[in-house]
Amino acid sequence: MRKILIYSLSFIILIFIIPAICTTSKKNIQETSINEQSITDNNNQEQIQPAEYNYEKYKTIKLLHKETGQIEELNIDEYLYGVVSGEMPASYEEEALKAQAVVARTYTIYQAINNPTKHENADICDNYACCQAWISKDERFSKWNAEEAESNWNKIVNAVNSTSGKIITYNGSPINAFFHANSGGITESSLNIWGKIDYPYLKSVETAGEEGYTQYASEVTYTKEELLSKIKEKYNECIIDYTQENCIQILEYTTSGRIKTIKFGNVTIAGTEARTLLGLKSTNFTFTINNDSITFSVIGYGHGVGMSQTGADALAKTGSNFEEIIKHFYTDVEIIEVNSL
Ligand SMILES: [Zn+2]
Repeated sequence: MRKILIYSLSFIILIFIIPAICTTSKKNIQETSINEQSITDNNNQEQIQPAEYNYEKYKTIKLLHKETGQIEELNIDEYLYGVVSGEMPASYEEEALKAQAVVARTYTIYQAINNPTKHENADICDNYACCQAWISKDERFSKWNAEEAESNWNKIVNAVNSTSGKIITYNGSPINAFFHANSGGITESSLNIWGKIDYPYLKSVETAGEEGYTQYASEVTYTKEELLSKIKEKYNECIIDYTQENCIQILEYTTSGRIKTIKFGNVTIAGTEARTLLGLKSTNFTFTINNDSITFSVIGYGHGVGMSQTGADALAKTGSNFEEIIKHFYTDVEIIEVNSL
């Protein structure tokens, strides 16, 4: 009996635990939008029970300044003033800013709990492509018009303070609160973007009113030569015979209408990779082949997962409050008061 137990344990360690330790948790996604966080996550969240959290611990956040390497200790809400003002225009509706504050607070705590080794001795960094954007008050003021700086700042401070201690949970645990700039009218499920990661609260949802924002539509044009060399940066074997009708071909769409796989000549790549290689704002694009060039017409801005910031603003304009906005973008979640942080 004891032998069987030992064998079973060894089997489990060999088959499940060792590969899990060896597998790198870093997803190879390069983000190009200022309003997106990077995808680094050790995916342990669902295993931790709420009772194990000590939210008091996250009253103070250790922020790594990526450029200088300095670590600054900040009260979480003070830290969030710099995040919200770095991630969302102050001109957005107050309820959208509140939603952003709760999303950013949740994201911060999620990262601090689930990704503690990402930055040595720090909970999070100030780089938008690594964690989430953060800007100091002085720097923020220098970029605003002097006459509106004070009221902009007060609006952001109010969005953070009036939602203090509130975070988003699913099944009692903080969610991995992804957000992006513009969904193009429909968000994407995490499964379609990051393969195996299927967060139950990151489902595809539709939002009206996003077409009115500058982030909604964009275009990129490359000469045929330029396009080939872009693909060759990663796939040196790529050959595109532009005389062939289907020399560039979309092979598969995700359920939200974004490109899942696309073929350039003899090379088939994921839509997310095409986006990165070609510097497109999203994977929701069409293309036109002209005489000497190819034009990509892109809808939306960002990976499309979680809260759309322009969508949040559009919803706020039609009367939704921050809780309704959050529950629109994150499926079956709760907003809870963790403590008086
Ligand atoms: Zn970081």
